[in-house]
Amino acid sequence: MEGINKRDFFEIAIAACFVPFLQTCSKAAYFISRNKIANDDIGNIPTVELHRHLEAGMSPETMALLAQKNKISQVLTRNGKVPIEGVDPQDPDSIRNYYQRIFAGFKKPDGFSRFLDSLGLPVSVMVTLQDLETAAYQQILEQARNGSIHTELRGSPYTYQEKLIEKVTLEDVINAIRKGIRKAYTDHGASGAFIACFSRNKADKYGKDVVNAVLKTHTLESPVGLDIAGAPESEFPPAMFEKLLQPAREAGVPITIHAGEQSAPPEFKKTPPSFVKDAVEKLGARRIGHGTSLIADAKLRDWIREKNICIECCPVSNDAMGYMPLEKHPMREFLDAGLRVTANTDDPIPFGLSGVRDMFVKYGKVLRLNPTDVIQMTRNGIAAAFVTPERRLELERRL
Ligand SMILES: [Zn+2]
Repeated sequence: MEGINKRDFFEIAIAACFVPFLQTCSKAAYFISRNKIANDDIGNIPTVELHRHLEAGMSPETMALLAQKNKISQVLTRNGKVPIEGVDPQDPDSIRNYYQRIFAGFKKPDGFSRFLDSLGLPVSVMVTLQDLETAAYQQILEQARNGSIHTELRGSPYTYQEKLIEKVTLEDVINAIRKGIRKAYTDHGASGAFIACFSRNKADKYGKDVVNAVLKTHTLESPVGLDIAGAPESEFPPAMFEKLLQPAREAGVPITIHAGEQSAPPEFKKTPPSFVKDAVEKLGARRIGHGTSLIADAKLRDWIREKNICIECCPVSNDAMGYMPLEKHPMREFLDAGLRVTANTDDPIPFGLSGVRDMFVKYGKVLRLNPTDVIQMTRNGIAAAFVTPERRLELERRL
């Protein structure tokens, strides 16, 4: 109490009583105003997003904000070698137009490489840990405003680490992103979590470091997820990574794996349903990113349903990448089969989306979804979220 007089003491006491009360009111008002449910309006139902890559989900406004702050006028492609032409990184409209061109050009022969190059923009404007925190904070808040009651961001910590002007560890990178996610919750009650990834074709270089960084940062009170992403899945099937992920699995780290994604129906020859089974059995995945090849194996679908494994469907991504057209996406069949399905954007900005609600509004019909499906997928997302039991209960109450 040293240095605090009686009047200060009373002011602190009053603040201690009223601030939590006001915070509770402001959180409630924030969500009530954003999430009014109309019975038959697919665009007004609260959503959850579990599969969203941090850099590909950064809004043009946040990219421009960070580029202005860091005085960046020229950005490089993701491999960091060639400047990206035709975009002003400090102008949100220029960024928006640039990504519209990326989306429109997806089906052209160089569409995929231009998409990968374009991810250099958001990655290049984050040059300090504070920038990573800001990027995560803004994205969780934007998605809360878009109707998402819980949003999980994922990314490869080493990709961000390489662009920072500070010398930091992978744990520092993970913690900066989590700080932003936590702040969104503290300030506005917007819920989120982070999943650290490594690319399967870079596992030799970064896999062990990412697993170790997750082991050092994950706690029961503040979970950090782990994911294997990237291409080509056919050359690096899930079973290859059994030993690498074993320590994370034993430590209870929540694991999701991109699996059964990168080939086309009807046989999914390059990424067969067995990849999904291996991801669950051998790597301990509680969730599967994409998992579209499951449509080719009804018996395995039953097994996945019995195990309550969540399928993170990303239909617009699968269409843009050329694996399957939207109207043939099996999300509808997965829902009918009783799987724990969630709907996700994957890489929203290059795919012309802002969030899951936007996807339902634009493509709900072609995906053969109705409002009951959307509510079910929100429930599934809450059940499968990488959060504490307390947060899960809170999200259930919000829905
Ligand atoms: Zn993904």
